[in-house]
Amino acid sequence: MMTIIRIDAPLFLKENQATWTESYISGATFSWHQKDEEIRTKLKEMSNYHCAFCDDLLFPKSGEIGEIEHFKPKTAYKELAFEWTNLYPICRRCNGTKNDKFDDLLLRPDSEDYKYSDWFCLDLSSFKLKPFKLANPNWKRAEKTIELYGLNKDDKIKRRQDEFAKIRNEDYKDIDNQPFRYI
Ligand SMILES: [Zn+2]
Repeated sequence: MMTIIRIDAPLFLKENQATWTESYISGATFSWHQKDEEIRTKLKEMSNYHCAFCDDLLFPKSGEIGEIEHFKPKTAYKELAFEWTNLYPICRRCNGTKNDKFDDLLLRPDSEDYKYSDWFCLDLSSFKLKPFKLANPNWKRAEKTIELYGLNKDDKIKRRQDEFAKIRNEDYKDIDNQPFRYI
């Protein structure tokens, strides 16, 4: 989970947020009002086309189109369903694992002072992400983030392992076009 600098909300979202939220709260089915493509694109620009949580690549840097994550799930926090700061670009795998779960301990990649190296380390013998316990007394927050987004599921470990092998064999120059930049 690399640092993200939050960009400004798209204008159409600012303009419609109140109306859309009100309608959703009063019982309408959740809908992006045909703006999902635009929102997704904006979010992906913000993260340089990486999943905000596992850092895998998203379209057009990979075939994975990417989804829109509600950090606080819209089912329990309806008032945040169209709140820009509650939205993140996410890959299908992370989104499928996290689903409607939430915990106050979860880390946000765009929160002030968030840095990968303060919270996580990669164990190169297992390719698992671990909370950086020695450096951070609040390491349980990293542990919870790993758990809810499934950052150590088998497929993620395999993807990191494959990427690591590639990095060793090739001369990478453009880190931003690689998945798992923390490797
Ligand atoms: Zn992901």
